[in-house]
Amino acid sequence: MFNHKYIYIIVFSSLAGWAVFAYFTTTQIIKSQQKFANVINITGKQRMLSQKIPLIATRFYDSRDEKVKNHLIELYEEMKLDHRYIIYMYTHSDATNTIYYEKPKQLNARVERYLELVENFIKDEELSSLYKLDSFSFTLLPVLNDAVNAFEHESKLKTKHLLSRELFILVGTLLTLILESVFIVIPAIKRASIHEEELNNLVKERTLELENISVTDKLTNLYNRRKIDETLTYEIERAQRSNSSFSLIILDIDKFKDVNDTYGHKTGDYVLQEIAKLLTLNVRKIDMLGRWGGEEFLIVDSESHNEKVVGFAEKIRKVIEGHAFAKVGKITCSFGVAHYRERDNESSVLIRADEALYAAKESGRNCVKEAL
Ligand code: GH3
Ligand code: MG
Ligand code: MG
Repeated sequence: MFNHKYIYIIVFSSLAGWAVFAYFTTTQIIKSQQKFANVINITGKQRMLSQKIPLIATRFYDSRDEKVKNHLIELYEEMKLDHRYIIYMYTHSDATNTIYYEKPKQLNARVERYLELVENFIKDEELSSLYKLDSFSFTLLPVLNDAVNAFEHESKLKTKHLLSRELFILVGTLLTLILESVFIVIPAIKRASIHEEELNNLVKERTLELENISVTDKLTNLYNRRKIDETLTYEIERAQRSNSSFSLIILDIDKFKDVNDTYGHKTGDYVLQEIAKLLTLNVRKIDMLGRWGGEEFLIVDSESHNEKVVGFAEKIRKVIEGHAFAKVGKITCSFGVAHYRERDNESSVLIRADEALYAAKESGRNCVKEAL
């Protein structure tokens, strides 16, 4: 059965998946930016140091000032440390590998050589060492420039790649939303409304069933006394309002007590049901047929109010008389007919029908009598 809970779980878990993916990609972008910023900064600094060291070395050579020498040593240490960082802590790409380790640039070897020259000068403080150092610094500068450019290029490429992954996440999230809407959410909503409609229909059906039960006689399936009362009230109001008329036929099984006594109550019930069937088959759709009491039935003929009704009752009488009831054989009924009269109410017209029935019984049963 449709359940909102599952829909929420599917939609939110898939979107949460995309959100986690987006989070890690963004973190990766930030980390990679930091890494590249660091390495570009360090290489730039090396470029600066490669030019500053010969200047400081010259100043020291001229002044022989120990403070200047100490400063030179600091710069040397700094350059060495930075170089170590780039060589050992940084994972090189093919492009920077070529610059650092392959001919003709061999930046790693160049820097090592440069540091060696600086170290030599610090040790011997000779003019020849200073010259070597100074002239070597010029060959180092363009290669360090290349390294800075290579790192910058690499950073741009990596960012571009990660940004395209972000775009992929965005498209993926939107697609997921669309597909979930089309294949899960909308069908679920439709199913829910169908389900609601089914429930409404069921309620309507059940209500109708209950209404039917409340106006139906259990044994014969005909309308019960309650419905007959309602119909009579309706017919009286209608007759008064529209100056129309209607007739009642009441019929009572003759000597029914004998049937029960002779064949048992069950057979009596069967006879009641069988007569109900015969009546149903013979009345018209517009007539109202019901079980009035124990072995009495009532027909409300809303159209005719004259001898036609007597003829109709006579016809039914013959049908019952001519029917062969299992076990019992022949069964007859007596009929009383009454027509609506002005100023009649439910009981007055019923009383007249009952009196006619009584007259039929009195005159030997199995006949139709009309109220005067
Ligand atoms: P009469 O010709 O004068 O109408 O005689 P009767 O025997 O038909 O009339 P009476 O009123 O003496 O008896 C009616 C019987 O109908 C009595 C009652 O037990 C029986 N009866 C009433 N309701 C039912 C029912 O639902 N099932 C059965 N089997 N019998 C019923
Ligand atoms: Mg009776
Ligand atoms: Mg009877």
